[in-house]
Amino acid sequence: MTNPSLLILPGDGIGPEVMTEVRKIIDWFGAKRGITFDVSEDLVGGCAYDKHGTPLHDDTMAKAQEVDAVLLGAVGGPKYDNLDFSVKPERGLLRLRKEMDLFSNLRPAQCFDALADFSSLKKDVVAGLDIMIVRELTSGVYFGEPRGIFEEGNERVGINTQRYTESEIDRVARSAFDLAMKRGKKLCSMEKANVMESGILWREVVTEVGKDYPEVELSHMYADAGAMQLTRWPKQFDVIVTDNLFGDLLSDLAAMLTGSLGMLPSASLGAPMDNGRPKALYEPVHGSAPDIAGQGKANPCACILSFAMALRYSFDMGEEATRVEQAVNKVLGDGVRTADLLNEEGITPATTAEMGDAVIAALDASL
Ligand code: NAD
Repeated sequence: MTNPSLLILPGDGIGPEVMTEVRKIIDWFGAKRGITFDVSEDLVGGCAYDKHGTPLHDDTMAKAQEVDAVLLGAVGGPKYDNLDFSVKPERGLLRLRKEMDLFSNLRPAQCFDALADFSSLKKDVVAGLDIMIVRELTSGVYFGEPRGIFEEGNERVGINTQRYTESEIDRVARSAFDLAMKRGKKLCSMEKANVMESGILWREVVTEVGKDYPEVELSHMYADAGAMQLTRWPKQFDVIVTDNLFGDLLSDLAAMLTGSLGMLPSASLGAPMDNGRPKALYEPVHGSAPDIAGQGKANPCACILSFAMALRYSFDMGEEATRVEQAVNKVLGDGVRTADLLNEEGITPATTAEMGDAVIAALDASL
C-alpha cells in the first residue's frame, strides 16, 4: 500500500514556525506508530511571490491537485500590503480553494476542558463542547449574479444575489451527512426558508439527501434561531450545515465560544478523487500574525489540530486524530500555555517549540 501524501505549505509570518511543530508530530507518527506520510513542501503567499513573482506557482498548484491532502500555515504580511491585488499573498490561497473546488468548509468549535474559562459564556455552557459547522464555500450570495452598484432613478442601488442550484446544495449536504456519520450522527440544517426561496430549495434538497442517510437524525432550523441556540445551549448540536453567508457568521460565532484564535483549525473539502478521498486543504483559522512572527510566541495548536483533522477526514485515521487532540488537551490541562492562552500575570508562557515538545511528550505518554 502506498503512503498517504501530504503537501505542506508553511507560508509566511508564523506559518513556518507553527508548521515546524506539526513536522515533529508527523515524524513522531513515523517513529512511534509506523505511520509514514509522503511529505513534500513548497511555497505559498508572500514567500512564493519573493521567489517566483506569483503567490502560487503553477507547479505548486499542480502538486496540490495530486496529493491526498494539503496543509497550509498562513499567508500575508505588511511587506506585501502594497502589492498589486492580482499578486497579493491571499490570491495564492484563493487560487488553491478555487481550482481544487473546495465547496465544503469545516469549522469545528471544540472546547478543551482547561480552556473553558476562556469563553465569554458560562463554563457549564461550553465545557466539553464539540460541534462542527459545515459552510458552503463556493456559491451563494458572495458569488451570485447580478451583483454591483447601479443607478436607479436618482439614487444608487447595491445588489447581490443569493443563488443556489440543487447540485450545489446536494454536494455540501452529502459532505455534512458523511461527517455526521463519522461523529454523533446528528445534523441540523440552517437557512431562512420562511423568507427566502433559496432557503426553501435548500431545505427540500437537504431533506431528500437525508433519505440516503437513515442513521443520521436530521433537523432544520432558521439561521437566526440557530444563532440564538448556539449561544444559549451549543451542546445540543453535533454537525450544522448551512450556506456561505450564514456559515460565515455562524462559524465565527461558534468558534469564539471556545476561546483563542490560536486553537482553531479548519478544513475545506471538495469532490472525491479517484481514490475516494475528498480533495482537501487543512489550515488554521488564524493569519500570519506579523506582530509576533519570528519571536517563538505563536501557539502551534491550531495548526497541529488542522493536521489532526487531516488524519480524520483525509486519511481515515480517526483514532490517531483523537490521540493528537487528547495530547493537546492533556498539555493544556497540565498548564502548559503559550502567551495567547494566559489571562493572568506572573506565569512564564511556553514558546512555540516548548508547546510542540509538550504535545510530543503527551503523545509518548498515550502509548
Ligand atoms: P491574525 O490572525 O494573523 O492575527 C490576529 C491576532 O491574533 C494577532 O494579535 C496575532 O498575534 C494573534 N494570533 C494569531 N494567530 C496566533 C497564534 N497561532 N498564536 C498566538 N497568537 C496568534 O490576523 P491579522 O492580524 O488580521 O492578519 C495578519 C496577516 O495575516 C494579514 O496579512 C492578513 O491578510 C493575513 N491573514 C491570513 C490568513 C490565512 O492565511 N488564512 C487569515 C487571516 C489573515
